[in-house]
Amino acid sequence: MAGGEVKKDPANLELSPAAMQAMGEEVVRRATHYMQALADMPSVGDYTGIEALCRAMREKTPEEGSPLESLLDPLFEEWIPRSFNAAGPGYLGYIPAGGVYTAALADFISDATNRYTGVWNAAPALVQLEANALDWMRDWMEFPPEARGLFTTGGSMAMFNAIACARERLLGNAIRAGTLYVSSQSHHSIVKAAKLAGIAHDRVRLIDVDASFCMRVDALERAIAADRRAGLKPFMVFSTAGTTNTGAVDPMDEVADLAAREDLWHHVDGAYGGFFHMVPKLRPLLGGLPRADSLTLDPHKGLFLPFGTGALLVREGEALRALHSSTAGYLPEKQDEFYDPQQYGPDLSRDFPGLRIWLTLKFYGAARYRAALGEKRELAVHAAEEIAKIPGIVLDAPPQLSLFAFHLESKGLNTIEAQNAATRKLMQRVTQRGKVMLTGAMVGERYLGRVCVLSFRTRSDRIETCVRHIAEETAALLAEAAR
Ligand SMILES: *Cc1c(COP(=O)(O)O)cnc(C)c1O
Repeated sequence: MAGGEVKKDPANLELSPAAMQAMGEEVVRRATHYMQALADMPSVGDYTGIEALCRAMREKTPEEGSPLESLLDPLFEEWIPRSFNAAGPGYLGYIPAGGVYTAALADFISDATNRYTGVWNAAPALVQLEANALDWMRDWMEFPPEARGLFTTGGSMAMFNAIACARERLLGNAIRAGTLYVSSQSHHSIVKAAKLAGIAHDRVRLIDVDASFCMRVDALERAIAADRRAGLKPFMVFSTAGTTNTGAVDPMDEVADLAAREDLWHHVDGAYGGFFHMVPKLRPLLGGLPRADSLTLDPHKGLFLPFGTGALLVREGEALRALHSSTAGYLPEKQDEFYDPQQYGPDLSRDFPGLRIWLTLKFYGAARYRAALGEKRELAVHAAEEIAKIPGIVLDAPPQLSLFAFHLESKGLNTIEAQNAATRKLMQRVTQRGKVMLTGAMVGERYLGRVCVLSFRTRSDRIETCVRHIAEETAALLAEAAR
């Protein structure tokens, strides 16, 4: 390709326009072919000999370069396929998303133009696109105009920034006195984020849940009172708008009331469920969400973006700025009118998540997003109805949003251990059939099977297949248990 030029002048890393064009076309050709093939790929790739493969892949620093095609071949043929098919329509495990193509194009543009968007002054119009995307999220979540936010690499980092923000605002330097409250069904990333933000494990309280896996506000109130009696300072409570295990939506309104009475910072973890607030029909269920002091969103879940896009909204934007704003002699002077990423987040140099989100939302428009999110919920409701009819299946958590959980029970399966083992086997066997990937979760003593519909690529045909495979594998497992 550019081989001749390389030999003569090795220090020149620039490529000719013709070479760049050819390389780009080759990548787009392979990527679009891959996306077209997603539906027929197995839900989990071939893992035979995967450790040996990884060991064999260890390599020395390449001293000489290689042609691009020789690098793309093993990537697309050997390495990408040996993974969970997380982008495919059958990905119903964990929390899916898909990864819309427009985001890949936006990242290509960001990387190719390589503008500096960490500081407003360096690319004001580009930063404005990011500010617009944040404003749209603020509006969808019915946060007030003074709310500010930031795009992060994921929900975990959004949580970290939220805790740091609340800690700074409510504890100042007296960090060790502060106590933080989550439910036993909260995402583990919160406890990790707390530790990163200086709130040790012995200051985090796990609050019990009710029969629907929602946080018990009476238990929360008691825990807060006990900590106050012990001379500690309760400062932050988390509720979840859709838990990862069972999709439970905590009573956010009641938690908000309690937080207001007790002067606590109320954070809502909407990493899975937050974007369902865009769907008018689901707003009543998520009614308390706009009252949060801060909110985690994960565009790489509910907006179907590729991994690496989380978001945080903070009701009082000033609190976010108070935490992050800093200055240096070599940086341009601060201005107040326009959103400036480095004043609202921990990064200085960074990639440009704003374009990924802006381009995608402008391309599709909010109406199509509401339609897609509404459809994913309808698919989950339909699947849960059908699966609940299967003999031997007990529905533990019907879908509040687009996720539900269940377990197996029958005459031959009369201990909880036997039921757990059978439910686990059901998840594995359905996944082994290759059309859908399902994962379960331990919830207390029970292993629950679960289905989460949130990939934009999952449509009704795949849901029918999922229901059929669950029915067939359940029947087989029950027959084995009865023997
Ligand atoms: C995914 C998830 C998180 C963690 O977000 P990441 O983007 O994976 O860091 C937190 N809470 C809930 C409810 C989630 O579903």
